[in-house]
Amino acid sequence: SLSGKTAIITGSNSGIGLGIARELAKAGADVVLNSFTDRDEDHALAAEIGQETGTNARYIKADMSKGDECRALIEKAGACDILVNNAGIQHVAPIDQFPTDKWDAIIAINMNSAFHTTAAALPMMRKAGWGRVVNIASAHGLTASPFKAAYIAAKHGVVGMTKTVALETAQEPITCNAICPGYVLTPLVEEQIPNTMKEYDMSREDVVKNVLLKRQPSKEFATVEQLGGTTIFLCSDAAAQITGTTISVDGGWTAL
Ligand code: NAD
Repeated sequence: SLSGKTAIITGSNSGIGLGIARELAKAGADVVLNSFTDRDEDHALAAEIGQETGTNARYIKADMSKGDECRALIEKAGACDILVNNAGIQHVAPIDQFPTDKWDAIIAINMNSAFHTTAAALPMMRKAGWGRVVNIASAHGLTASPFKAAYIAAKHGVVGMTKTVALETAQEPITCNAICPGYVLTPLVEEQIPNTMKEYDMSREDVVKNVLLKRQPSKEFATVEQLGGTTIFLCSDAAAQITGTTISVDGGWTAL
C-alpha cells in the first residue's frame, strides 16, 4: 500500500494524469492534482477522489510552462514521495511552418517542467529516505513521426533526463523511470480526430483504426487505468532495482 506517501501528478485534471492520480489514491497515496486553472471543478475533482478513497487529495494550481511555478507546486505540497511528470500538450505542423510560440510552449510544458519539479522534489525524497520519479514520455520519446518535431524533441529529452536522474540517485532509495504510452483515448487525442476526418475524408472509425492506431499493432488504445497500474508497479518494492529505463505501454508500437 502507498498509504502515508504523497504523490504529485502534474497536469492531472484530465486524461492520463487524472487516471494515474485515481489509481494512486486507490492504492492509498495522498494525491496532489494540478493544472494551470483554478476552478471550483478542479478542487471538486480532488475532493471526490479523497472521499472515494479515504485519502487526503488536494488540487494545487501551477502553470507548468513556468519554471518558478513548477518549483512552487512541490514546495506548496510540502511533501513529495512520488512525482509523476505528466503535463503535456501537442501541436502538429511541418517544421518549416511550426509556430515558434508553440515550439517554446511544448518544450517548456512537456520537458522543462520535469527539470524544475524533479530539482525541487529530490531534496524532499532524500530527506524522507525514499522516492519515485515517473516521467510520462511517449512512444514518441523512442521513435518519430512527421509533423510533431517539438513534441518528439521534448519526449526524447525527457527520456534522456530520466537516465541522468537515475544515475545521480543510483545509490539512494530513489528511482527514476519513464513510461512510454502509445495512443490513449484522452482529450489530447480526441481533439485530433475531427481534423483528421476532414483531412483524409474518412469516417471516425477509419481514422481511429487506420491513422491513429496505424502503428499500434494491438489495434486497441491503452487505457489510463493501465498507465495507473504501471505507475503503481514502479512504486512497488518489485521495481526497486528498475531505474533509468523506459516501460512501453503501446500495444507493440515500438516492436515494429
Ligand atoms: P490531456 O490533454 O487529457 O491532459 C493533459 C493535462 O496537462 C491536462 O490536465 C492539462 O490541464 C494539463 N496541462 C496542459 N498545459 C498545462 C500547463 N501549462 N500547466 C499545467 N498543466 C497543464 O492529455 P493526455 O493524453 O492525458 O496527456 C498526458 C500526458 O501523456 C502528456 O504528457 C502526453 O504527451 C502523454 N501521452 C499521451 C498519449 C495519448 O495518446 N493520449 C500518448 C503518449 C503520451
